[in-house]
Parts: sequence; C-alpha cells; structure tokens
Amino acid sequence: MKFNEMTYTRPDIDALLAECKQLAAKAAAADSDEAIVETYYEQSRAFADYTTASNLANIHYTCDTRDAYWKAEQDFFDANGPAVSNASVEISRAFLSNPHVDALTKALGTTCVAGMKNAVLGMDERTLDLQKEYNALVSQYQQIYGGALVELDGKQLTIPQLGPYKESLDAKTRRAAYEAEAGYFDAHRAELDELYTKIVKNLNAQAKLMGYHDYSELSYVRMNRIGYGPEEIQRFRDQVAHDVVPELQKVIALKAKRTGIEHPTFCDLPVSFKDGNPKPIEGYEARMAAARTMYHELSPETAEFIDFMQDNELFDVESRPGKMNGGYMTSLPSYKAPFIFANWNGTSADVDVLTHECGHAFEGYVAERDPHVPADLECPGMESAEIHSMAMEFLTAPWHKLLFGKDVDKYALQHAEDSFLFLAYGCIVDEFQHKMYQNPDLTPDERNAVWLELEHKYRPWVDFDNLPFYGRGAGWQRQLHIYECPFYYIDYCLSTMAALQFFLLSLKDHKDAWQRYLKLVRRAGLASYTELCETAGLKVPFTDGSIKAIAQEMGQWIAAHQV
Ligand SMILES: [Zn+2]
Repeated sequence: MKFNEMTYTRPDIDALLAECKQLAAKAAAADSDEAIVETYYEQSRAFADYTTASNLANIHYTCDTRDAYWKAEQDFFDANGPAVSNASVEISRAFLSNPHVDALTKALGTTCVAGMKNAVLGMDERTLDLQKEYNALVSQYQQIYGGALVELDGKQLTIPQLGPYKESLDAKTRRAAYEAEAGYFDAHRAELDELYTKIVKNLNAQAKLMGYHDYSELSYVRMNRIGYGPEEIQRFRDQVAHDVVPELQKVIALKAKRTGIEHPTFCDLPVSFKDGNPKPIEGYEARMAAARTMYHELSPETAEFIDFMQDNELFDVESRPGKMNGGYMTSLPSYKAPFIFANWNGTSADVDVLTHECGHAFEGYVAERDPHVPADLECPGMESAEIHSMAMEFLTAPWHKLLFGKDVDKYALQHAEDSFLFLAYGCIVDEFQHKMYQNPDLTPDERNAVWLELEHKYRPWVDFDNLPFYGRGAGWQRQLHIYECPFYYIDYCLSTMAALQFFLLSLKDHKDAWQRYLKLVRRAGLASYTELCETAGLKVPFTDGSIKAIAQEMGQWIAAHQV
C-alpha cells in the first residue's frame, strides 16, 4: 500500500489501557512455558495499531509542522504516551513475577527478559516530579539552541546554516563562522552553565532515590544496556586512547599534507580537500534510480526491499519549508512498512543519510516479516541498531560511483576518515559525562577544564587557537545529547567499531561481508551487542587488544587511498 493510502484513526486509549490490564493479568497467571511465550506474542501484537497510528501522526507532523490537524494528533500522543508506556512496564512486571519467565529466554533469547528487567528497574513513580522538571530543563535548552540566530555574511543564520561556511575553502570565512557561533553561546554562558548544573543535580537525585550511587550508574539501566557495564565501557575508551589515537594522528597529518594546511587549527578541520569536498549527483529522480540499481545489485533481499520502499513511496527526503530538521527511520507495524525521513541539502550528507536510514529500514523490513520476532523485539539496543545503518553506509560502497560520479574516491576517503575520527570524539563525550555525574559539585570552569583535558587525551591534534567559547573548553555545550539524552553517545562508537570491521571485511571479500551482515540483521532484537558481533564473526571491542589491529588496518587503508 502506498504511504498516502494508509488510513489513520486516533486510537482509543481507554480500550488499550484496559487490554493492557488484561494482558498483565494473563502474563502473571500463564501456567506453562508455552502459555507465557504465547502471551508474550499476544502483548506485542496488542500495540501494533497504536504504534502505527502514533508513528503515522508523527510522520505527517514532522513533514509539515504547520499543519494544525497533525499538530493536534501529535499533541494527543505526547499527552497519552506516558500512560501507555507505564501500562507496558506493568505487563513486563507481571511477566517477571511469573515462575515460568525463563521460558521467554529459552524461546526468544537473552534480550527479552533482560530488557523487561531494565524497563522495570528504570521506572520509579517517586521520580515522576523530577522527570517532569528534567523535561522542562530540556525544553529550555532546546529554546536556547533551536532559537539561535547569528549574523554572518550580512545574513541572519541558524546554527545548521553555518555548516557550509565552516567548510568554506577560505580560512577567514571558516573562522568567522565559528566565531559567530561562539558569540551566541558566549552570550548565553550563564544560562547554559546553570541549566547543566540543574540537569546533573536532577538526574543524580533520581538515581539516589532509586538506590543508585549516581546517574552514570542508572544510565546503564535506562539505556537498556545488556551484557556490559561501566567497566567494559572504560576498557573500550582506554583502548581508543592507547590504540586508536596514534593512528588518528597519522590520519590528521596526511590530511594536512593533502589540504596544504600545514598547521591546521580547529576551524580548519572540516576542510577535507584542497579543491572542495565531494558532491553527489543532483536530482531526486536520478538519485532514487541510482539507489534502486544499487540495492538491486547488492543482494536479492535488498532488491525486494528497495522495490517495496520506492513503489509504496515510503520516502520523504527533500527539504522544504515547514518540514522538521534531521533524519530518521520509523516503522508502521500494521502495514509492515518502514518509512524514511530526511532533509537533503545537496552535500555528501545526503548520501550518508540515504544509505544510513536504508540500513535501519532494511532491518525493520526483514524483522517485520519474521513471524518468530515479536514486534517489541524487532530492534536491538541503540548501540546495536546503529550497526545496521552504519555498516550499510560502507557495504553499499561499490555502488557509490552511481551517486558521486568522479567524486567517488574523495567520498570513500572522507567517509572512512570521518567514521574513524568519530571514535575519539565519541569517547570524549562519554568520559566527560561519567566525570560530570560522579563529581556533581564541579564549578562551570572546572567542568570546562575537564573537557579540555579530555580533548588533549583523545584529540591531541586539536588547536583551538584562542577561539572564543571552544577555546575555554565549553564546546560540549553545543552537543545536544549531553543535555537532552545523557549517555546516549557511546552507542555510536560501539556501532562504529562493528561498521569499520564490516568495511575492512568487505575489502577482502564483499560477498562474505554481506552474508555476515545479513546474519546479524536476521537476529533482529533477539540478541545483545556482544552476541550480534559474535554472530557476524566480529571482534567485541571490550576485551583488551581487540581494537588495535582494526585501527592499524584503517590507518593503512586511509594512507593508501589519499586523493
Ligand atoms: Zn541511525
């Protein structure tokens, strides 16, 4: 069915909540292994129509935020969503109380029961007021950031609109763009500092109330991290510091040679090539035709997938007034249909977002068609879901020439470099947050000093050159995850580790790399990060020494593919 033919009906919340109550009773009372598994499937089906309606409303709303009808529907789900989530947690609590609960692990793998435990452990009614206060703090941050307008080039620009100026081939223009941005954040210095103090205090208060030492500990439950904890993450970051950073320094040196910028400062880092960054082909139809060819030639599975997506018009990727920023993939379970949303702007990021979201959508498409996979276990944790997307960015590389023409080699180099360099930045963001919640009484200046220390540890090549705002170590305040979804960041590093391994495997034997990817995708959300890596024969980056060889191979490939 085409997207525009899908019908929307506002769900009956009272009926759904009543059904949830019945399901919770059934989950608690199931008196055999078969009965509890059957009830699990039943509860996962119960949310299909609600989820479909909620996601349909959200798609229509984000495609045109000025539409009053869809704004009202979006408000309806914002208001009723928490009650539905709570009802779902109560069903989990009922399953966990059932003596047959281990049958769920036997039938559905390690993530089902562990995920329910995290859902129950992460919620506590005594924190409701603190949660409301936290949401209000996030809104204040969004107002400061989202409302930012700065003056440059005789124009009033938003922060995202500074992007092209930051990539300009003229050094003065780049510096001016960063200074314009810095000026805005400096003007809001006191507010941003105070907001963060309140956020740290608030989340630590929630953690203490629930019996945790601080929020850095509780975050592992709230992020539904299964099979690893703070020790594993620390071992991962240590390896990045010891084994990845030296390779990245070589990458940066080669880049300086290539761009002719001998002593690059922070403002010079976005420049990848002397004659400008790679540009994709233009035109919606041409790009979509290229994508169809690409996925037809990649595998029979992706051929079926792309035909379904394009024939049913499950894309909205062009930018236009009224459309919300960003990109995402979402699912419409009642129609077994993924949907892809993006905002193309003519840069190579258009191809990143297309292959990235197609990776998420392909996994959703496969999982929705597997009767063994309950709807609520179609997708694994965030650190694993991003493997589907980031690996797809690399596994489509043999067809990128269709989308980049003569710039294809530049794109391959830039994409590999950026993914590799991201590991360092991601670790800064993660270690910084652990330190902030473990030392909640630091002053704003002390926090910035911690950030600069971590910059030095993971990105020793960065020279802020007295740039305002960034130079005093406050650059973390523009990383919205730190305010809006604390600790959601190391996920991108963990999935990058898997994606880089898929890339390196594909260079040796692309067919084999694809088959491994498909095996991982087919486990849907029924396996943990470690199990998914092992399924595909990938190294798990928590063990000492697991990263070094990967980092060296990346460094060698990048050195050999300078453009
Ligand atoms: Zn993603």
